[in-house]
Amino acid sequence: MFLEPHFKGQRSGWIEVICGSMFSGKTEELIRRLKRAQIARQKVEIYKPKVDTRYDEVNVVSHDDNSIIAVPVSSSKQLLGVNEEVSVVGIDEAQFFDDNLVNVAQELAMRGIRVIVAGLDMDFRGKPFGPMPGLLAVAEYLTKVHAICSHCGNLATHSYRLSNEGDTVLLGEKDLYEPRCRTCFQMGNILDLRVKKETKNQGEQQSIL
Ligand SMILES: [Zn+2]
Repeated sequence: MFLEPHFKGQRSGWIEVICGSMFSGKTEELIRRLKRAQIARQKVEIYKPKVDTRYDEVNVVSHDDNSIIAVPVSSSKQLLGVNEEVSVVGIDEAQFFDDNLVNVAQELAMRGIRVIVAGLDMDFRGKPFGPMPGLLAVAEYLTKVHAICSHCGNLATHSYRLSNEGDTVLLGEKDLYEPRCRTCFQMGNILDLRVKKETKNQGEQQSIL
């Protein structure tokens, strides 16, 4: 489990990145760290991209309803306007921000701010997602969290999209994606077809009975 290197008496800031596939608990881990900072009486500000309208406009909401108030922003530049009293900045769904977020995070860290970023490291094609690879390169601390593969039960690193519709940015509704390990992700449609066949067979058996 991640432990803060230091809460107080430190003048320089740093960057932490929490990354992983969908359903891996990234946002829960972000909230856990932010709440601990609040317990240490540090002023915390949380941002998320405006594109993420899954639940509501204001809260960073994780899947277990453990939520924390966030400011929706349309550009990473807006983060530079953060109040001087703020010592910890949280950023959720960082993959949907523009590439300049890498520079913005570094600028904030140079001001002495602890920057905690959570985001998907790969998109549904298994490619690095938005500013995430750049953030991973410049961060002091990295945490890769894993989901469980919905097919074989191994650790899942990939977000497999069950629907062929839409563009790259499809927001994470549970029924559109499932976590998969590398092997099951590569097997892609083969597994889909097998599941459909099994379901069909079960249906036929039931109709015979
Ligand atoms: Zn698997």
